Amino acid sequence: MNPEVIVIGGGVIGSSITYHLARDGVKVKQLEKGSIANQGAASRASAGGIRLNNRDPRELSLAKASVLRWETLEEELGADLEYISTGQIMLYDHRYSMEVLQEQVKEDEKGGIPAQIVDQNGLKEFIPCISPLYTKGIFYPSGGQANGLLTTIAFSSAARRLGADVVTGIEVYSIKTENNKVIGVNTSSGFMPCSTVINAAGAWAPKIHETLNLSLPQIKTFRHQMSATYAAPLILPGPTISAKETKISLKQTIDGRIRAGGGYSTKPGPDEYSGVFNEESLNQQRETVISIIPEAEKYGIDFTYYGAEAHCIDDIPILGEVPEVLGYILAAGFSGHGFTLSPGVGQVISEIVQKKPLSISIDGLTIERPFSVDGINDGAIRHFPG
Ligand SMILES: Cc1cc2nc3c(=O)[nH]c(=O)nc-3n(C[C@H](O)[C@H](O)[C@H](O)COP(=O)(O)OP(=O)(O)OC[C@H]3O[C@@H](n4cnc5c(N)ncnc54)[C@H](O)[C@@H]3O)c2cc1C
Repeated sequence: MNPEVIVIGGGVIGSSITYHLARDGVKVKQLEKGSIANQGAASRASAGGIRLNNRDPRELSLAKASVLRWETLEEELGADLEYISTGQIMLYDHRYSMEVLQEQVKEDEKGGIPAQIVDQNGLKEFIPCISPLYTKGIFYPSGGQANGLLTTIAFSSAARRLGADVVTGIEVYSIKTENNKVIGVNTSSGFMPCSTVINAAGAWAPKIHETLNLSLPQIKTFRHQMSATYAAPLILPGPTISAKETKISLKQTIDGRIRAGGGYSTKPGPDEYSGVFNEESLNQQRETVISIIPEAEKYGIDFTYYGAEAHCIDDIPILGEVPEVLGYILAAGFSGHGFTLSPGVGQVISEIVQKKPLSISIDGLTIERPFSVDGINDGAIRHFPG
């Protein structure tokens, strides 16, 4: 029997969608050109930060539903995801008055995001070795961190256990339609029929989209470089750290490594999806880390790694049916904070496939939204660290 649904992509988004479809009893095949959480793709390299704060209001419902799901996801998937629910903290230095923080917390509260101002002593409780340059911060108790690789594998493994056909090493070349309706996909292993196809191919999603004679110029590829130190004693027991006016995202993972991300680029590689180690970028990142946590200087860099991120010009993903082609659904353009959203995305895409009422609003995230880019969202840079 043919699968009803084919999911293209074995990243955290495609894997979550496959899991939710299988959980809901839908016959589904997942096709990944490399391996699940493929090397060079976003999910394997993800910094794994889980947050509600710094969100576009249009993705807030999805973020809230997802952050709630994270609390029990390990149990649901039967896997260790290295989930730690220590929240997030945004640091501010002396240039910012308390009024700035109070305004921000007011905004956060309007969006239903729990937030709490902390003074310098409060900061020290969260981050004992913090630089004295940082005098205050906003603590966001929701969210925390998890491991991108383990989560992606856990979604796909759970999907497989529930009967999904998870196939790796097969590349989708194009989506085939008849009378503007999906009838299958052409792949490196030949034609595979289906009535619904979900494009969750991350940075590669525009290439697949174009095979339908449509274009997806809203999604651009960025290649971001992460760094990890040698294992250190526990010096960052608390929340994932961001600092105002920097792009840094900083945490200590379960293996003791201090990991820094936040949109520091690789050098260009042989094609737009590949990157090459960028020493200058690493030095800038390291300098910022040490300015926040001077003690981090004691722990040298062990390795760097990167992933190709599908950055959408207005910073929010594109989700839902594409009106021009019946049976074609997009779930792409997750930018620098898509890992957080993965449980909610899987749930809502499964509901779309089953034509059920949506339990999470994705109004404002569909391809039919205006993609106007304002002064803040200039479409060219990553605005918030993961
Ligand atoms: C360095 C870095 C740090 C990040 N930090 C955070 C963070 O802290 N918090 C957060 O929320 N988010 C973070 N993100 C963002 C988050 O990781 C991504 O939004 C998310 O992983 C996107 O998942 P995806 O499944 O859409 O894409 P990907 O993981 O890129 O997966 C797409 C998959 O599709 C496959 N594919 C492509 N073309 C085809 C084809 N033709 N046929 C078959 N398969 C195909 C690829 O091989 C790939 O495996 C970070 C991203 C990066 C790069």
